[in-house]
Amino acid sequence: VGTLYLVGTPIGNLEDMTYRAIRTLQEVDIIAAEDTRQTRKLLTHFDIHTKMTSYHEHNKHERTAELINRLLDGVSIAIVSDAGLPAISDPGEDLVKAAIAEQIAVVPIPGANAALSALIISGLSTERFTFVGFPPRERKLQQSWVESIAQLQTTLIIYEAPHRIKKTCQLLYEALGDRQAAIARELTKRHEEVLRGTLEESVQWFAENDPIGEYVLIIEGVSEDTVQKEEKDSWWQLLSLEEHV
Ligand code: SAM
Repeated sequence: VGTLYLVGTPIGNLEDMTYRAIRTLQEVDIIAAEDTRQTRKLLTHFDIHTKMTSYHEHNKHERTAELINRLLDGVSIAIVSDAGLPAISDPGEDLVKAAIAEQIAVVPIPGANAALSALIISGLSTERFTFVGFPPRERKLQQSWVESIAQLQTTLIIYEAPHRIKKTCQLLYEALGDRQAAIARELTKRHEEVLRGTLEESVQWFAENDPIGEYVLIIEGVSEDTVQKEEKDSWWQLLSLEEHV
């Protein structure tokens, strides 16, 4: 039986490719890539000539079964995404689950990741954090999504696309209040930048500056004082409501 490798690749800077990632991509039989054209550039740069197949959101159902059969036949496969770690807001999770169900070995080859890179330079608490990925695109779902994260006391890590970051900062400011935040842009690239301040300041920033590049948002969790105050308020409200009955 073959092995399934999840190989981390750079999030912008090719020097973040690890020796082990290069060797693994050279040695496996097949590389399953989210976007073969994107990965071709990486393979060319590192002089890797392994066969590629595509594995993305839209073909993952049929491809999962195919790739599992190949693994069971003894073929070794590396899965890579366009950037960073596979299976983190990228394809990979389904294949991992299917491999585990067939008792196929699954091996991580760690590498760059935008979420953790942004968190560690944010200046906010790194002790406890919650990665929440991309906010939902549908307006209807956005409200319940912000409500679901509003009471978390852990630092929040959010991915967002450049054309939505402005609206997302506004939404978060309105729903979470003026919390401390850090916005990391173009990590590991030439125009790497971090804005540290409050959510209100981020709204002001994007009112004056057009977003360009890739962004990770880091936001402080709700403070214990706020949670306690809200609990007290609702307890008090409940009591006064009962008194009126
Ligand atoms: N698998 C990737 C990882 O491990 O970080 C994440 C892929 S997800 C589809 C793409 C999102 O990650 C972008 O929209 C952005 O939020 C974030 N991202 C990726 N590269 C980045 C970079 N160089 N700087 C800032 N954010 C980045």
